[in-house]
Amino acid sequence: MEAVRRFGLSKSRITYGLQCGKRLWLQVHRSSLAEYPPETRRLFAAGHDVNDVARTLRPGGVLVEWQDDLDRALKETAVALGGEGDVTVFEAAFRHRGVFVRTDILERREGRYRMTEVKSATRLKEYHLTDVAVQTWVLEGNGLPLDVLNMAVIDPEFVYPGGGDYRGFFSEIPIADQVRPILARVPGWVTNFVEILNGGEPAIATGQQCRKPFECPFLPYCEGRDGRAPAVARDSAGEQAPEAPDPALGRVDPAASAYLASLPFPRFYLDFETVQFTVPVWPETRPYEQLPFQWSCHLEPAFGKIEHAEHLDTGGGAPMRAAADALLATLGERGPVFVYTDFEKWRLVELAARFPDLAPAIENVTGRLVDLFRLARQHYTHPALNGSYSLKTVLPTIAPELAHADLDEVQDGLSAQAAYHEAIAADTPAARRDELRHALLEYCALDTLALVRLAHHLERRPAAPAREEALR
Ligand code: SF4
Repeated sequence: MEAVRRFGLSKSRITYGLQCGKRLWLQVHRSSLAEYPPETRRLFAAGHDVNDVARTLRPGGVLVEWQDDLDRALKETAVALGGEGDVTVFEAAFRHRGVFVRTDILERREGRYRMTEVKSATRLKEYHLTDVAVQTWVLEGNGLPLDVLNMAVIDPEFVYPGGGDYRGFFSEIPIADQVRPILARVPGWVTNFVEILNGGEPAIATGQQCRKPFECPFLPYCEGRDGRAPAVARDSAGEQAPEAPDPALGRVDPAASAYLASLPFPRFYLDFETVQFTVPVWPETRPYEQLPFQWSCHLEPAFGKIEHAEHLDTGGGAPMRAAADALLATLGERGPVFVYTDFEKWRLVELAARFPDLAPAIENVTGRLVDLFRLARQHYTHPALNGSYSLKTVLPTIAPELAHADLDEVQDGLSAQAAYHEAIAADTPAARRDELRHALLEYCALDTLALVRLAHHLERRPAAPAREEALR
């Protein structure tokens, strides 16, 4: 028991231990070795938003604060649960045999207890059940028998009506039948993990456990210790980016060149940037919906003449309508619109559904789309591609000087979302907002310039203007 007191366990630590004993050990003894991508920090923030919503849906509940003072949190919980009457407690804290947990929502009604765990997810996952099993074991160890165990997950079909009304945001799923059979395993986990924490660093090799159910933040450390090659650069799709391939090794099918040469002018090269919110903030939007806030469009009004148009709204209001209006004005009514994958097509379809008055004009645009991804996959080969046709893999084989890695802050879709979140935050200083706007505009413009270069390459035309010239 002494060991339990030295290295207390928590629900999170047990989750780490179930993924990998070494991860648990590192998390407690060498936490500074963890490397979290910026996106993870945004997801943590999203998780907090979800809990705020859960609390607003149960007005009158008592919130136990003291996140950094466990003893104080335990005392406050005892006070909140004192007496016999009905009560709702958020973040109630309990400890049993050295395991400390907090519960998202604990309700007492007519002397009976129900616990609801809130997840920033749209469906139940295996590790959610082990989380609740640990909590249940601790609470029942404290003499609180739980009649109801629920999981609150996000309903992806929820449409936010505005005005802070989040009724219907969650679906509550009863999970007692799935959790009860796991309960008997909890004491064994606790004993095992305490032993691990009391020992030296476990000798566990990297393997499948390193990415499931979570990407382990100690992977760079463990791969280094395994004597493996240093981590390679990867693009946003997780694919390995080859280094400095020789463009002369590429092969273009003449059928693609002939097809592209047959297309009329003006030509357009389009890319959207979108943002997703776990908790919708703009009326008539859903959780996780991809909402366009920015686009870049290179225009080729005539052979060899390149212009550029762009739109970016960082005002903080719903940006979709202004983005759609400006885009339609730029694209006009005729001429092929080059894109890469179906991503732009689906965003356009969604905009047409959102703004029925724009639907005819948007349908005109979707009828003009030319997917360069499909064309490249069918008609272009290069030994460096290794079967990957993500734009960030193809680009270095045709125009190495357009590398996204040269960009400072925004280098892929995820960092663009993070930049946008920061840019619209009320407390972001104006100078920082300008910096983020600049980074977003440069990134998106580079993507559409890449489309110009790819189309010209497949058509076997001379190189497009220099990067600086076309980005102006
Ligand atoms: S990287 Fe893999 S082996 Fe290393 S601690 Fe994480 S899960 Fe364990």
